[in-house]
Formats: sequence, structure tokens, C-alpha cells
Amino acid sequence: MCGIVGYIGKNKIKDILLGGLSELEYRGYDSAGIAVLQEDTFSIYKAVGKLENLRNKTTDFHPEGFSIGIGHTRWATHGKPTELNAHPHVGENSYLVHNGIIENYQELKQTLIAEGFNFLSQTDTEVIVHLFESKLRILKEPLKAFRATLNELEGAYAVLLITKSAPDTIFFAKHGSPMLIGIGGDEKHFASSDTPLIGLCSDVIYLHDGENGYLTADSVELFNEEYEKIDPVLKTLPSSKLSAQKEGYRFFMEKEIYEQSQVISDTLMGRLDESTVNFEELDESLFDGINEIKLCACGTSYHSALAASYLFERYSKIRCSV
Ligand code: GLU
Repeated sequence: MCGIVGYIGKNKIKDILLGGLSELEYRGYDSAGIAVLQEDTFSIYKAVGKLENLRNKTTDFHPEGFSIGIGHTRWATHGKPTELNAHPHVGENSYLVHNGIIENYQELKQTLIAEGFNFLSQTDTEVIVHLFESKLRILKEPLKAFRATLNELEGAYAVLLITKSAPDTIFFAKHGSPMLIGIGGDEKHFASSDTPLIGLCSDVIYLHDGENGYLTADSVELFNEEYEKIDPVLKTLPSSKLSAQKEGYRFFMEKEIYEQSQVISDTLMGRLDESTVNFEELDESLFDGINEIKLCACGTSYHSALAASYLFERYSKIRCSV
């Protein structure tokens, strides 16, 4: 589960989104993308691998003036790390980024396919943007459609959605994955952690689980899970990036030790049923023709690989060395 950024304002949106994503690189990722909406036109760029690849694709993109945009670094949970699976995900008139896992995506996907929606990716995320557009057809108003979409999602998410049906607005929701809003006068930002916002604004709103709403250049509309309006609480951003990345811990190692139980539950979310673990992206034929597995790792990952090698040998009956 990786990183999200968002921006509304008149400043250099491309640099702000890409700069924000590079501040989230420390969280790890396999692909990245941005989508910018200016008046009625979407510009969208995605790339697999390092952010440098995304930067290189955007060299001829120079948006000027007011615009809204969203960006994402992906750590694949459902579907391979490919450009099609990278976020933002597209509907007919909307783009969306998501961190987390939608546990009931398969049921939603079947219903949406039956309604005639086409899926381009293997991700769980793509259901959200099609579900929004399906609701919009019926409800006509983007806020109502966004809420109706949230009502059907199970799992963990931080999402940002931009749509031509409200071209000056970013819709947001947080449930399990981190997200905060940065306020800098008539410029507003979203990020998954403090670091992308340090230097851009000093006041932030840390979102709590269940909170959702929408943002324009002049206002933040925040609601609780029952869609009752709540007053945002402004906090002051810390000024040191390094300590912000350590999220209150003294050392990165200490932080990683305390994060272990969260990482394990995030990794398994949406993959467990009564008695099995599901890896629907992998099929039995994956190991056809393979007679030896070698794992290459160092430090902590070397120790994980040692433990994994026993499991590989036990379950696949293929020799495994580290
Ligand atoms: N589950 C989503 C995916 O696989 C989001 C992963 C993330 O949080 O980066 O695309």
C-alpha cells in the first residue's frame, strides 16, 4: 500500500504532484502515475519502475493556470506491476487513485461487467471508478454518486477521485489507509504522509477512518461515515522531513519493528477466506518447467528468504536455495 498525492490550485501542478510522489518514494513502489484535469481536458501519464520513468514521459507536459490533479505510487496487491495496472484508473469521465485493498471487488466487478462496463486492469481498484460512474448515471450528482459508491466498498482505502462532472473538485475518502489534507490559502493538497507537504503548507487536517468529503480551491467539506458535516481540525505540520518519515519513532528500524503486525494484516487483507489464502494472479502452471528456485537477498530479506525457502520446498517440492 503505497502513496497518494493531490493538488488544487494555480501553481505548477506537474512539479507539485511529481515532487510529492518523490517524497513518498521511501514507502516503496513498483509503478506511478498522475492525472491532471484542466477545464474539460484530462492529461494522464503512467510508468512502471522508478519515478524517473514517469518524469521522462511528462517532459512535454506544461500545464499553466488553475487545475486539479491526483498522483499515485503503487505497490501492487492485485494484478502485476504493469502500466495498465498503475493508477490513476480511468472511467468514462473520471480518474481515481486508491491505496489499500477492496475486499469485495470481485462481486462488484461481476455486477459492473453485467451492466456493460469494460475493465482494462487486473486491479481491485478499478471497480471504484466504474461503480462511481454507474451511480452517477442514476443519481446525476457527483457527490451523491460518490457516497453511494463508498457505501458499497468493503476493505481498506484512501481514495481521490476527479471527474469532468465537477471539474473544480476533488472527492476524497479514508478508511484504513492514511491520508491528510494540506491547506495553503487558495491552494490545497492531499498526501499519504506529512513529508510531501513540508515546505508547501503549514496547516493540515489529518483524516480519520470513515471521513470523506470534497475539496475545492476555496473550501474543504468534511463529513463523517454517516455523511454528517464535521468541522475540520487544523494542526501544524512538523518542519523536519526526516523525523516526519520516522513517524515519531527514533530510528527507522524501531518503526519497522512496530509496523510488523500492521504490515502482515495489510498483506493478507482480501486474500483470506475460511481455510485458504487466495493468490488469484498465480496459477498452478507458474512452476511448470521450473526445477530449481534461487532466492537472492541480503540482511533482513536474506533471513526472510531462508524461512521462505523451507516453505517453497515443502509446498512446491522444488529445490530452493538462498
Ligand atoms: N490494491 C491496489 C492495487 O493493487 C492499490 C495498491 C496500493 O495501495 O498501492 O492496485
